Amino acid sequence: MLDRASDNELTAWDRDHFFHPSTHMAQHARGETPNRIITGAEGVYITDRAGKRSLDAFAGLYCVNVGYGRKTITDAIAAQAAALPYYHAYVGHGSEPSIRLAKMIIDRAPKGMSRVFFGLSGSDANETNLKLVWYVNNVLGRPEKKKIISRWRGYHGSGLMTGSLTGLAAFHNLFDLPKPPVLHTEAPYYFRRADRSQSEDAFSQTCADKLEELILAEGPDTVAAFIGEPVLGTGGIVPPPRGYWDKIQAVLAKYDIMLIADEVITGFGRLGSMFGSDHYGIRPDLITIAKGLTSAYAPLSGVIVSEKVWRILEQGSDEFGAIGHGWTYSSHPLCAAAGVANLELVDELGLVDNAREVGAYFRKGLADALGSHRHVGEVRGEGLLAAVEFVRDRDDRTFFDTSEKVGPRVAAAMLDNGVIGRAMPQADILGFAPPLCLTREEADVVVDAARKAVEGTLGR
Ligand code: PLP
Repeated sequence: MLDRASDNELTAWDRDHFFHPSTHMAQHARGETPNRIITGAEGVYITDRAGKRSLDAFAGLYCVNVGYGRKTITDAIAAQAAALPYYHAYVGHGSEPSIRLAKMIIDRAPKGMSRVFFGLSGSDANETNLKLVWYVNNVLGRPEKKKIISRWRGYHGSGLMTGSLTGLAAFHNLFDLPKPPVLHTEAPYYFRRADRSQSEDAFSQTCADKLEELILAEGPDTVAAFIGEPVLGTGGIVPPPRGYWDKIQAVLAKYDIMLIADEVITGFGRLGSMFGSDHYGIRPDLITIAKGLTSAYAPLSGVIVSEKVWRILEQGSDEFGAIGHGWTYSSHPLCAAAGVANLELVDELGLVDNAREVGAYFRKGLADALGSHRHVGEVRGEGLLAAVEFVRDRDDRTFFDTSEKVGPRVAAAMLDNGVIGRAMPQADILGFAPPLCLTREEADVVVDAARKAVEGTLGR
């Protein structure tokens, strides 16, 4: 619902006062770019103030997994607000929904997980991860073992350390990032491998070899942890090449390096499994969760701590006292109530299975519609995560110049056809991450809009 301000006033206030994230500030302020004010949503559709409906095939930012307008969640938030809007969780305090939610998360988590620390964003959860890794190595008496290895094209947030973990230039430039002790290694991006004659298995081995080379060059006693998304997300929506995670984990085990699985996108069903770690046989020490935890009905993130790490944290507090880490809003009761209702809904509606089944149908539809287009290099994905990557030439695998803005132009054309996808930030890639309740009929609408947008922008 719009407030009483007229549309024109809202637009003026937006241009004059609202500092939008990831936005061209000057163009927005000058009114050169569209400002879209969203006023309502239902199911997989959002509506703007002009009354235009769009099928949101990116679930906001890969987060509204149960779809919009779920009354059981909004009722749970309202009931919690009436009963207890806030109390902190410091020094052993809690609220019923946050305790209940921690139990629900551990019940669903990969084997060996023990406790949940709650935050509000994926970024702050990854900050917590880094602090826990450093804390653990201090407790274990190895203060030199502090470096963190991430991957080029990984996305782990946009704070100081998490923006450093992120391996995308747009999040580093002019911010003096990345900061030490963060290092980056090869992205597991088979389509863009340097040696095109390599098999997937061989490329996975190359990624593991490069990781090992970096560890040896830095000194294994200085490397504390490796962080990765089970499927690269914002870096291009790229599932790992075959064998990748097994090979990477063998290297990490050899040098006693902890593994952080960043499941902010993949947690709670997006790949057609409850967690990406289970999907790919990843055995993490720490797992980052956010987005699908509440389907973004309220901001909530978490770090799932393995039993192995938890034991060391307990040892640390016995030796050094209470842990000096927490946020005012850690496990905020309203957000936790949203999380409980959301996870119940995920189960009730069978959304993990739906992501697997409709995901396969959707990706096949995309591949059939676009896979042989002369400017499509690859259609890829897993579950309800999918991407179409554009190339200038399929045979030479040459890419368009970024100044041609092919990805953004296709995404804009698709929006004109009533469907929201995302022009991924680094390269010409059209990304999809629809709500996990997507039906086959809705998947057909997305595929049809994508095909028309590609053909309208790049020809047949
Ligand atoms: N980690 C991953 C894998 C993400 O995709 C994101 C956000 O998209 C984050 C971390 C950061 O989450 P937030 O934007 O909530 O800080």
